Amino acid sequence: MAHKYCYLFSEGNATMRELLGGKGANLAEMTNIGLPVPQGFTISTEACTKYYDDGRKINDEIMAEINEYIVKMEGITGKKFGDKENPLLVSVRSGARASMPGMMDTILNLGLNEDVVAVMAEKSNNERWAWDCYRRFIQMYSDVVMEVGKKYFEELIDKMKAEKGVTQDVELDANDLKELAGQFKAEYKAKIGEDFPSDPKEQLMGAIKAVFRSWDNPRANVYRRDNDIPYSWGTAVNVQSMAFGNMGDDCGTGVAFTRDPATGAKGLFGEFLTNAQGEDVVAGVRTPMHIQEMEQKFPEAFKEFTEVCKTLEDHYRDMQDMEFTVEHGKLYMLQTRNGKRTAQAALKIACDLVDEGMRTEEEAVAMIDPRNLDTLLHPQFDAKALKAATPIGKGLGASPGAACGKIVFTAEDAVEWADKGEKVVLVRLETSPEDITGMKAAQGILTVRGGMTSHAAVVARGMGECCVSGCSAINMDEANKKFELGGKTFVEGDVISIDGTTGNIYDGAIATVDAQIAGEFGRIMAWADKYRVLKVRTNADTPADAKKARELGAEGIGLCRTEHMFFEADRIAAFREMICSDTVEEREAALAKIEPMQQADFEALYEALEGCPVTIRFLDPPLHEFVPTEEADIEALAKAQGKSVETIKNIIASLHEFNPMMGHRGCRLAVTYPEIAKMQTKAVIKAALNVKKNHPDWTIVPEIMIPLVGDVKELKYVKNFVVETADAVIKEAGADLKYEVGTMIEIPRAALTADEIAKEAEFFCFGTNDLTQMTYGFSRDDAGKFLNAYYDAKIFENDPFAKLDQTGVGKLMEMAIKLGKATRPDMHIGICGEHGGDPSSVEFCHKIGLTYVSCSPFRVPIARLAAAQAAI
Ligand code: PEP
Ligand code: MG
Repeated sequence: MAHKYCYLFSEGNATMRELLGGKGANLAEMTNIGLPVPQGFTISTEACTKYYDDGRKINDEIMAEINEYIVKMEGITGKKFGDKENPLLVSVRSGARASMPGMMDTILNLGLNEDVVAVMAEKSNNERWAWDCYRRFIQMYSDVVMEVGKKYFEELIDKMKAEKGVTQDVELDANDLKELAGQFKAEYKAKIGEDFPSDPKEQLMGAIKAVFRSWDNPRANVYRRDNDIPYSWGTAVNVQSMAFGNMGDDCGTGVAFTRDPATGAKGLFGEFLTNAQGEDVVAGVRTPMHIQEMEQKFPEAFKEFTEVCKTLEDHYRDMQDMEFTVEHGKLYMLQTRNGKRTAQAALKIACDLVDEGMRTEEEAVAMIDPRNLDTLLHPQFDAKALKAATPIGKGLGASPGAACGKIVFTAEDAVEWADKGEKVVLVRLETSPEDITGMKAAQGILTVRGGMTSHAAVVARGMGECCVSGCSAINMDEANKKFELGGKTFVEGDVISIDGTTGNIYDGAIATVDAQIAGEFGRIMAWADKYRVLKVRTNADTPADAKKARELGAEGIGLCRTEHMFFEADRIAAFREMICSDTVEEREAALAKIEPMQQADFEALYEALEGCPVTIRFLDPPLHEFVPTEEADIEALAKAQGKSVETIKNIIASLHEFNPMMGHRGCRLAVTYPEIAKMQTKAVIKAALNVKKNHPDWTIVPEIMIPLVGDVKELKYVKNFVVETADAVIKEAGADLKYEVGTMIEIPRAALTADEIAKEAEFFCFGTNDLTQMTYGFSRDDAGKFLNAYYDAKIFENDPFAKLDQTGVGKLMEMAIKLGKATRPDMHIGICGEHGGDPSSVEFCHKIGLTYVSCSPFRVPIARLAAAQAAI
């Protein structure tokens, strides 16, 4: 049997999202449960994949099947493409497995041509409406399918309005719109060199291709990368019979949520526009009215809609985001999906669903996207400072958070300024999908137009970024990069603060405070801790970071990069003296100055960790990173050392390496300068003994970690004098202290010979930053320069330094665990590369049986949640 690529809505169901995409599967499910859905069919994601496999062509087999389904659809709706009696008009919409709001293309009113417009005008007795649909269609088709810029059509509309002396589109009459449709077609012909297609089937094939093609547009690619959606999935295409919200004042269209997507509060939430088409609400061109106002306008449709909301929420057991249209008072459901929500709302909804008996704790934990927690962990406005400040304006609190930064007016500027390290707030009349990279680069987004469901609001919520939308009091002059608000003119670079919760806008910067894990956040995290198996530690080098991480739930320090402690002003001088010493004695004298400071550092860490494990990694970076570069510093060093400036400069020059990341670093430093490792050992052990004395009830077992080992003999050599030094200190103190010496696995050879290495190493910790660097042979400091080309060429979908390469690096890890445990079954094995805080990498770490992941303090809750999800 031939492969099936098309499915009527009545043939699918909610479990078929892989094949039908989210939108298609839910349209089918709504059809099955008897909701009023304009009928149609879905072209599967497999057809999209095939389109790409075939070199961006829809093959004959699929084409024939689409034609067959048009006939079926005509049978079901009783309407026909191009018919003079009862013409069929359709919408063509993308719908991937995971929803990607606004990222791909949609075409409405397809099927119109001169003849059909005439029929529709006559039958509806509404000539203006018919021509409005047609001119919209020409505009959308030209833009989306043929990629003729929107602006040419907008210019023609503006010209027409100027000629007519009107300011609003709705003030143009039927004749004006008819005239515009003619002008649009002429514009199309001028740009494309062919007549605008009048055959609905030809229009449909063009639109389907455009939707497939839009899977690969730049904004979709960025969105996918940010949201971990594989390119290979492809999008489905939904061909649905049109319901018209723009046929007059008894028509309308809206978007609604069953709970507030910003706060999670239960209750209908949404927006509605009379006499409009769906795109008008989402595009934010007109600021819509609150959904409750629909009750007065369309009491019956509203009543039915509220029932549908309940049915859908009970059915999906989650907050729904729905699109609907009212045509002459009758309700049509165009879409439903689990609604995008802010992190705050996600937590509240998950907890409420448990309390309402709709979900189990495990399901609630699984519902939260760990990446979204990030926003909750970032500073919020200080309540006192906020109270003292007077807002200069107010928009809609579309996506919570506190943003403060310099004003920029374009997405490009936002990216450029952010790259220079500036914090910016992007201020726009309205946003469009092309603005996504700029929105990401900004601290927050402020728009003049658009409601809670406008593009800016939806995308900002998805990104967890602060957004205030629809502040119509702003008098915007985008062309000259300035605006007026609250009697003041703001120009590019002026600082404003926006509050995404209240929608308030403030002149200048407002102080912020740290976030806290409390309330629903605390409840979800407690459930996560109940179900996870992986432990979560933190990478922390200072007591302040360690304290923060403890507050956020860290169960230990997995990596203390001791070199960061050497950069402090009071010890860098001594360390430089060490580097420039000629003899072991000189070196030891310099290090003796650092030892008490280092010991105090470690004591503070042990105190902060209150008996939780602490892994201290010995000096790792190449020494040249520590030497002075400024002339004055070089002179000071020469003086302190009693050497000439020239001698110092020669020493510095001699430290130069062509490839420092593969040079004199890691355990190689301990091999060449054992004094450094000995000093660090003394500091670690003395600190532990001291803290233990003060807190006899704490378990303190220092974990000393030797970096960048590739051969067991390197480790053995270093370990020998570390143990000798440690034992001597313990003996001298007349105390008893257990400690461990372990290693990082960050060189492929270490992974390959982990059975040998485990004979010496009492624990392993994967340094996947270096392990990725050395497995791929990509410099971790330079890869950023070419990775974009790799994304464009579809060689990579993600940065392997951010998301673990499970196939290659992961294989080395699995091998190392197996080999290591064969030698030393009880050893603890962790990960402390950047991947330790990335949800998909955490899931992998759980799968391969690591003991813990270690990540930066602010990612600790993310790792806790991801670890629980991996276990559920
Ligand atoms: C690593 O390589 O993954 C690691 C944690 O060490 P560093 O980043 O300090 O090289
Ligand atoms: Mg490393």
